Amino acid sequence: MGLNHERFYYIRSSSHYISNSSHYIRSILQNRSSFSRYLIKFSCGIKKIPRYSTYICPMRKITADYIFPIASKPMKNGVVILDNDGLILDVRPCLEMNIKDEVEYHEGIICPGFINAHCHLELSFFKGLLKEHTGLDVFIRDILALNRPELAVIEQSIADAEQEMLSNGIVAVGDISNGNTTYKQKEKQRLNYHTFIEVFAFDPAKSKDVFDNAMRLFAEYPEGLKKSITPHAPYSVSDELFRMITDFSMQNNAILSIHNQECEGENDLFKTKTGTIFERIKSWGNNMDNFHATGKNSIENYLEKMPHSSKTLLVHNTVTTPDDIHWAMAHHPQLYWCFCPNANLYIENKLPNYQAFLDAHTTCVVGTDSYASNWSLSILDELKTIAKHAPELPLELLLTWATKNGAEFLNFDTQLGTLEKGKRPGINLIYDLDMEHLKLTSETKVKRLI
Ligand SMILES: [Zn+2]
Repeated sequence: MGLNHERFYYIRSSSHYISNSSHYIRSILQNRSSFSRYLIKFSCGIKKIPRYSTYICPMRKITADYIFPIASKPMKNGVVILDNDGLILDVRPCLEMNIKDEVEYHEGIICPGFINAHCHLELSFFKGLLKEHTGLDVFIRDILALNRPELAVIEQSIADAEQEMLSNGIVAVGDISNGNTTYKQKEKQRLNYHTFIEVFAFDPAKSKDVFDNAMRLFAEYPEGLKKSITPHAPYSVSDELFRMITDFSMQNNAILSIHNQECEGENDLFKTKTGTIFERIKSWGNNMDNFHATGKNSIENYLEKMPHSSKTLLVHNTVTTPDDIHWAMAHHPQLYWCFCPNANLYIENKLPNYQAFLDAHTTCVVGTDSYASNWSLSILDELKTIAKHAPELPLELLLTWATKNGAEFLNFDTQLGTLEKGKRPGINLIYDLDMEHLKLTSETKVKRLI
């Protein structure tokens, strides 16, 4: 279209809709800042719009006591302006608003949709079946011993769990898969998923078969959705298997995830070749003759087997020490530390030393783990547990872990994680919190507004 064909139209805010031109208008609005009126230049290609008419633009304006854009400082009485598809047109102080503008007010705070950085959706059928506080070695024993229900039951539990995450304001998930039972649900794209196809084999002789099976699952995964092949845990992956994962990850510029230091038994295994995890591995008939203690905690034994070029998620970190954190940060440039506090309480009844991660300036994210080891799939519930045990951590920091950092790790940050113009991050209302001190309480709830 040449300049000669350009027309000018005038658009006002409200609920009416310019039917077949909304996408075009939206793309223009992203680059405009005027709040209640937009002078928009159209090409004459949009045939159904009469010239020089007044139009009403689909917009929703949401305000609350505080807006937490996460990309910038919290805003008292700010307003988020969105189109009907959840695209953010602007985030600004309420003061600039026209008194006649229709604005939804909510009591509480508004933040972007949550990112669940660690889940095992395929284990949802375990809801309520596994005993609490048994310790990781017994938990693993029990999870392997329980019978799997028929596929229809598994698939229904997956659909229900996904719906629960949606209702709890979660917009993206880093999900571990050992099989393909979640694929059908993920294909519907109700949530954004990155699937980590997980491998484990302590016995080096099994590495090739295990990795080949992962490659089949990788190939079978729905087209266009994000995926990578990832190790389960330091104690369940042989050096050979680590090598295969690393080679494949480097070729594919993949992101990686690994369960890290979930219990003292994991450190004991590597330090002294003793403890609960050592005994559990032996009980499965593995030959431990070629396994040698190094006197060092788990993380120092495996982290350098993982590629520096891959963003790497360390999940749980329940018994990670300040020395472990410093060592790890000096030896890997792209670490994200994931907390799943309710799963830690469920299995080990112990929580990480959050202050140590803060002191070391780590990048932290939050996950729910699965229904095998949790009472809910709610990032807010995880944040409430952290806030209860580490009340010194400010709400803004907790929300940054639960939104921006997770989106960055999973490569969803162009659309998710912060309230910024041009993104579609979902909008959560957090209410019934201690507004005076801006703290989460046991009564705090989340409602998904968009
Ligand atoms: Zn897990």
